[in-house]
Amino acid sequence: MNIKIFRNFSEIATLAPALKKDGRRLIPSDIGLIKNGSIVYNQEEILWVGPDSELPEDYKGIDSIDTTGKSCLPEIVDSHTHIVFGGDRAHEYSMRLNGATYEEIAAAGGGILNSMKGTNALSRSELLKLGQQRIRAIKSYGVGTIEIKSGYGLNFEKEYEISRIIHDLKNIVRPDVQIINTFMAAHAVPKEYASSYDYMKEVVLPLLDRLGEEQILDCVDIFHEKNYFSDEDVTSLFERAQRWNIPVKIHADEFNDNKGAILAAKYHALSADHLLSTGADGIAALKDSSTVATLLPGTGLFLGKTQANARAFLDAGVKVAIASDFNPGSCHCDNLLMVAALAAPIYKMNMAELWCAITLNAAHAVGIKSQGAIVPGLKPRFSIFNTDSIDRITYSWGKNLAI
Ligand SMILES: [Zn+2]
Repeated sequence: MNIKIFRNFSEIATLAPALKKDGRRLIPSDIGLIKNGSIVYNQEEILWVGPDSELPEDYKGIDSIDTTGKSCLPEIVDSHTHIVFGGDRAHEYSMRLNGATYEEIAAAGGGILNSMKGTNALSRSELLKLGQQRIRAIKSYGVGTIEIKSGYGLNFEKEYEISRIIHDLKNIVRPDVQIINTFMAAHAVPKEYASSYDYMKEVVLPLLDRLGEEQILDCVDIFHEKNYFSDEDVTSLFERAQRWNIPVKIHADEFNDNKGAILAAKYHALSADHLLSTGADGIAALKDSSTVATLLPGTGLFLGKTQANARAFLDAGVKVAIASDFNPGSCHCDNLLMVAALAAPIYKMNMAELWCAITLNAAHAVGIKSQGAIVPGLKPRFSIFNTDSIDRITYSWGKNLAI
């Protein structure tokens, strides 16, 4: 059976109580802390977890790994990234700090169309290589599952290529890292299309059909916002995704309260992401749904903007996740742990809410229900840190303690 045993972690956060509460309304003890804990598992599942002093006799004779001085949590999941892109937008970042407006940056050739150019300028193999490098960096912080969105090609051929690149990345890095392949050709409307409707009709929907047939997609996503994609575009995309049996996600209510959270709940989306402007009706809709509210604090920090009202979601009983939103324009940061550690005091999250947001709820936000807590029966996917105290992991901003 190939049983493996970690013995004597200084601390294990099982998140077992958080799992029982479906990741909602968590109090600090829902982190499920075990001191001097051990974990028994095989390739498929966790078999036992508890204080080492209670390790069953049957397991005592088996070779084990001594993990004294280290801490263990469910695997960290980055449930929202845009890491397949070419070029960077460092100059825009500097322009912004130096006082340029959004319009001035756009007039200087900045914005998402800048990344579209940079991405289209790179070959398939160059993008694949960059993707591998970025995944390696993300993994080094203790993140083991990464969702990757397409969306910087913005034409049929390049978007197809990017979705295939994400599929290749998935096969290259598994099983060490799990990749979730999210189709997001509906990221912005290229200038050559008169309307989002035309772009949907000519590129997004036919491409979804092609990739649906090839069965390589895990999720479908869309940027729902004024001057981007409308309610009708979301509806047509989600209904097409349903036909292919692919779960959906949505960039919702980032600049305005567009009722994106309500649309997400209506279509049983895995997650609604951003949510800076969501009203009470949107929060109420999410509370009664399985849709995870994914907050992206890095974007607000990077752009110097306000943050989502996390407590309103948490107190209402919504499932809340935090993701990095790593992308070239609005958050060029690949370190989810640092982003979450910076956000927790702003969001006024307790430690159970913080860890649940980047493990259990983040796994649910990408449709994975078989991990996110250290309990028998779930998959043995862990994040391990070189410290005897879980407190120190997020206390040490920007310091990498992952093993
Ligand atoms: Zn995004």
